[in-house]
Amino acid sequence: MSRVFNFSAGPAVLPEEVLRTVQAELLEYGNSGMSVMEMSHRSKDFEEILFTAEADLRKLMGIPDNYKVLFLQGGGYTQFAMIPMNLMINRKADYIVTGQWSKKAASEARIFGTVNVIADSADRNYSYVPDLSDLNVTPNADYVYICQNETVHGTTIKTLPNTKGRELVADISSMFLSEPLDVSRYGVIMGGVQKNVGPAGVAIVIIREDLIREDVLPFTPTMMKYKTHADNKSLFNTPPCFNIYVCGLVFKWLLKLGGTEAMKKINAQKAGLLYDYLDQSTLFHGTVEKKDRSMMNVPFITGNKELDAEFCAQAEKAGLRNVKGHRSVGGMRASLYNAMPIEGVKALVEFMSEFERTH
Ligand SMILES: *Cc1c(COP(=O)(O)O)cnc(C)c1O
Repeated sequence: MSRVFNFSAGPAVLPEEVLRTVQAELLEYGNSGMSVMEMSHRSKDFEEILFTAEADLRKLMGIPDNYKVLFLQGGGYTQFAMIPMNLMINRKADYIVTGQWSKKAASEARIFGTVNVIADSADRNYSYVPDLSDLNVTPNADYVYICQNETVHGTTIKTLPNTKGRELVADISSMFLSEPLDVSRYGVIMGGVQKNVGPAGVAIVIIREDLIREDVLPFTPTMMKYKTHADNKSLFNTPPCFNIYVCGLVFKWLLKLGGTEAMKKINAQKAGLLYDYLDQSTLFHGTVEKKDRSMMNVPFITGNKELDAEFCAQAEKAGLRNVKGHRSVGGMRASLYNAMPIEGVKALVEFMSEFERTH
């Protein structure tokens, strides 16, 4: 076996310790005589897996009691529709567009009502976060939407927008559990887990109870109502059982490491290594304004497409995988999620220095 350093933006690296536990428990979970994959979602064993995962996530994020936690299918993208279907009662919502993912979310929301883009950073290819302190928030907007960490463009919203009393809805897919968040400032927090939490196939939604409504938009299917899942503790239909189990193991791993406070320190240290190198390099350059840089997704370029391609090819061979940037930004991108060990970042920086020396 030889495991590489996997800088993929998602699905992404998982903690080796968690994978080993999965391996050890694959044929028989506890004394159940079967794999988690084979269990009824109505069994005692699975209920315990699900409810423990929820309790651990509540601990990790400090989720207040008046918020529900839902484990859903359909990934992050399905949330782009579920959010307006459940919340866009006045058929008006404000979107802050800071990159590809908030842009896609805004497009999807236009199916359901009027979308006002109240801030946008397209003018410089989403390489920064605009000032969000005094926006033209629509007075009766049902919510203000952000993607707090733009996975493709590598920006993070570090100061939440002043929503002027409107509900804040945030996609945190690519920064889930990477640092502490004050959940009480949001109406809804959602994300696909395959970036920083677990295997693809689960989206987690954290929603304040008063936003779980009966009177959602007409024609909203049963499966697309938050109420359906909240009333049934994510067991309305068969949930992605095995994936939830793996998420639960990741939660345990994070609790053992010291939770999100500890992760923030480790993540800042990892990202710092790469950014410090980029800031003094004469070959490689970060593409994002310093104040808005993400700790999770670090895009960088040489400014020369052939050189970028050569770097990516050589990095692959050296066991530094998936550093090719998204096609809309070009160049390279290193994703430094919770499960990326610091050794991986050190190896990448060393490899980049050596490449710089020889090119
Ligand atoms: C990957 C990603 C999504 C889409 O997730 P899917 O699970 O593929 O639908 C949405 N938002 C952000 C920020 C992402 O990084």
